[in-house]
Amino acid sequence: TERTLILIKPDGVRRGLVGEILRRVEAKGYTLTSVELRTAADDLLAAHYAEHEGKPFYAPLVEFMGSGPALAAIAEGNRVIEGFRALAGATDPTAALPGTIRGDLGRDWGLKVQQNLVHGSDSVESAEREIGLWFPGR
Ligand code: ATP
Repeated sequence: TERTLILIKPDGVRRGLVGEILRRVEAKGYTLTSVELRTAADDLLAAHYAEHEGKPFYAPLVEFMGSGPALAAIAEGNRVIEGFRALAGATDPTAALPGTIRGDLGRDWGLKVQQNLVHGSDSVESAEREIGLWFPGR
């Protein structure tokens, strides 16, 4: 069965939204098979966000993502990659539709990086790569 890496970013943890976000994932019917709370090191974040290196938001993104604990999870289920990205909503939380995690719970805070509560892998290849980074050996 397909799996994906979900991150609840430091803004979601700081705001106390872990339960609300995981509730939506479970209510949709996906299975959480690994969950871990930790502050990501710079080398993990550099590998995770390698495709964005050189973009103007890269440095603020890595700084924000390492600014406090994030929750990393593996979720499983048929088409969970597409399904979680639909649950998450658009990258920009202002534009994300109501009914989505970002649309219901996020907003623009006027910062250099979009603090948009969650990350979800965008393909089978990136899911396996990201799971290998956050959960070595799983
Ligand atoms: P994620 O990969 O976190 O699920 P995504 O796939 O919707 O989000 P990406 O394009 O991979 O978005 O960008 C990674 C993250 O970088 C975004 O989630 C957001 O936090 C930040 N980001 C992306 N684009 C911008 C931007 N133009 N300005 C500020 N921050 C941005």
